Amino acid sequence: MIDAKQLDEENKELIRKYRKLLRYAKPFLKDDDSKMIRKAFNLSMEAHEGMRRKSGEPYIYHPLEVAQICVEEIGLGTTSIISALLHDVVEDTDYEVEDIQREFGKKVAQIIDGLTKISGVGANKDLAQSENFRKMLLTLSHDVRVILVKLADRLHNLRTLGSMPRHTQLKIASETIFLYAPLAHRLGLYAIKSEMEDLHLKYTHEEAYNSIIDNIKITKEVRDRFIRRFTRPLQQDLSLHNFKFNIKGRVKSIHSIWDKMQKQDIPVEEVFDLFAIRIIVDVPIAQEKAVCWQVYSIVTDFYKPNPDRLRDWVSTPKANGYESLHTTVMSRTGKWVEVQIRTQRMDDIAEKGYAAHWKYKDSNTKDSGLEQWISQVRDLLKEHDSGAMEFVDEFKSNLYQDEVFVFTPKGDLRTLQNGATTLDFAFDIHTQVGIKCLGAKVNQKLVPLNHVLQNGDQVEILTSVKQKPSEDWLRFVATSKARSGIKHGLKDEFKHVADDGKEIVLRKLKQLKIEHKTSTFTDLAKFFGLSQVTDFLYRVGKGIIAPKEIKKFKDASLKKKIDHKQKQWLDAKQVSKLITKETGRNDSILFIGQDLDLVDYKFASCCSPIPGDDVFGFVTISEGIKIHRTNCPNSAELLSKHGHRVLKAKWESDKNESFEVGLEIIGTDRVGLMNDVTRVISSDHKVNMKSITIDTDTGIFEGKIYLYIESKKSFRQLAEKLENVEGVVKVTRIKED
Ligand code: MN
Repeated sequence: MIDAKQLDEENKELIRKYRKLLRYAKPFLKDDDSKMIRKAFNLSMEAHEGMRRKSGEPYIYHPLEVAQICVEEIGLGTTSIISALLHDVVEDTDYEVEDIQREFGKKVAQIIDGLTKISGVGANKDLAQSENFRKMLLTLSHDVRVILVKLADRLHNLRTLGSMPRHTQLKIASETIFLYAPLAHRLGLYAIKSEMEDLHLKYTHEEAYNSIIDNIKITKEVRDRFIRRFTRPLQQDLSLHNFKFNIKGRVKSIHSIWDKMQKQDIPVEEVFDLFAIRIIVDVPIAQEKAVCWQVYSIVTDFYKPNPDRLRDWVSTPKANGYESLHTTVMSRTGKWVEVQIRTQRMDDIAEKGYAAHWKYKDSNTKDSGLEQWISQVRDLLKEHDSGAMEFVDEFKSNLYQDEVFVFTPKGDLRTLQNGATTLDFAFDIHTQVGIKCLGAKVNQKLVPLNHVLQNGDQVEILTSVKQKPSEDWLRFVATSKARSGIKHGLKDEFKHVADDGKEIVLRKLKQLKIEHKTSTFTDLAKFFGLSQVTDFLYRVGKGIIAPKEIKKFKDASLKKKIDHKQKQWLDAKQVSKLITKETGRNDSILFIGQDLDLVDYKFASCCSPIPGDDVFGFVTISEGIKIHRTNCPNSAELLSKHGHRVLKAKWESDKNESFEVGLEIIGTDRVGLMNDVTRVISSDHKVNMKSITIDTDTGIFEGKIYLYIESKKSFRQLAEKLENVEGVVKVTRIKED
């Protein structure tokens, strides 16, 4: 029960939060802005009246906090604040978009509509994100604010994820790392991107997360002292030059520290560059570049720079708008220290991304990379006619891109993704140029299509009318524009060849006196092991399948009919429906072992589950149902991208089946070790050996043994027995990937 005292406390808290929001918004409020914000707040409060979050807090705290993130952390204005306050109203209450439009006008209504449409991301709904993601990006082309408010919403949900059940935590966390963090990165919202990554870590690797936090705390004093000593001479010299500046030592994000630990396989204590020094100078736009280099010169007067570690994003900003000058210098105590030099404006943009761009837009004549990117997104959405899933994959590869700058023969600058080849460049000019591209001259020298471009290259494309796109091209292009252009070209080319093939097949059928029905082509395709008729026709057209082989089909179809029993599942719902219907159970869980007669399933080879493992079923497109371990390396992607194909699965405990499992044994070699190992395995009545390979040439014994085993428990028992064999150092289960 909630008593009067608590309600009173909550009201006070609510007023405190609301005042804070207004205080942050105040500098840019115009006309009756504050009246409109008040109105939105009142409506939201009324609509969410009595609703509470999982944490027990009044629901209204959530929209208020989301609005606070919008203004304080992204730097958005009145329209976004109002939209944030109302963002869950249409979805969770009886209010309609029309009501919002009447009260707050068209802009707000459009944003709310966009937010409601993309919120299929809700906790209890299906996870098929690709289409939602596409919708979300579509809104990007008319109002980026939808995505910015959505990011704020997601961030607050992540911050308050603690009170959610474990499976929701995992789902939200994996979605965030999959879509939202890359998107925040691309929109230049560094602070939000890092926080999202950190929170993802917190919910997926809690122990590592906590140990990093502890380490940062423990080492704070030593670090602060180091930073004070390091910056003292810089402070003095910068003051001497009359700069208005601010120097701080910033600890890097927990996620990036974790990344380093993983990549270099070291404990947190051994990560040396836990922090960077940031120098922010306040100067008019016209002097920015000169001043940044002046500061660089001061820094390197005191400390020797590493020439390989200079990054100049002042002269050429990153495509997401990031501008800064980074260098790594040697401290007096022999430690490398990263120094970031930037102006106040650059810092604002680095922290707040898109919104800050607008704030500075009037005074900045440079064509912002961000706007270029948004217009690229628009183009990509227009061009793209293939599946939504494929679209997401291609788009995602563009989210974290770093770029390379190259020039046309006339000296125009073009920005491409790092790793882009001459063929990418050709497609960047025009799809038709790409398709007909034969090669290129880079800096006057002739190079092939797969030549990787370097910064500053001047590129002239050579074309030929006879050139045709090839499947191989897909292997060496880096941009999604080139990829979709090649696929498009291949489709045209494919259709051409398939048409030729069709004529050949029709002629042959006539000659063999096979009656030609609609199903004949399908049956033919199947006979040649192909699922698509067009694939079959294409192969005939290309000469891969010779016309005389069609006679074999005639012979075979006389002998037996095509088996039509093979079931093709579309999604998990169908399967659970069948289980419910046939068994009378209403849990719609696939019992492994028990339900075998009903539905066909296989164990995924990527993680080879054995009884006792946490598992789920995954409905594949052409290979039936596959059982994966919950901690399979592929599971995050499967769960977050194809939620509708995921089926709950459990082991039927009283069934005795055997499972294949791989073991790796490492030890010091001695005479008879091999014998002892095999004796332990074969004396265990629950285990059958399948294969064994041993490598002993350096005095180290390395064995890989594949065997059939009954359950996780007997596996553990066996591993224990093996570890007790003299000379054996380590026994691990082999994970295949
Ligand atoms: Mn929300």
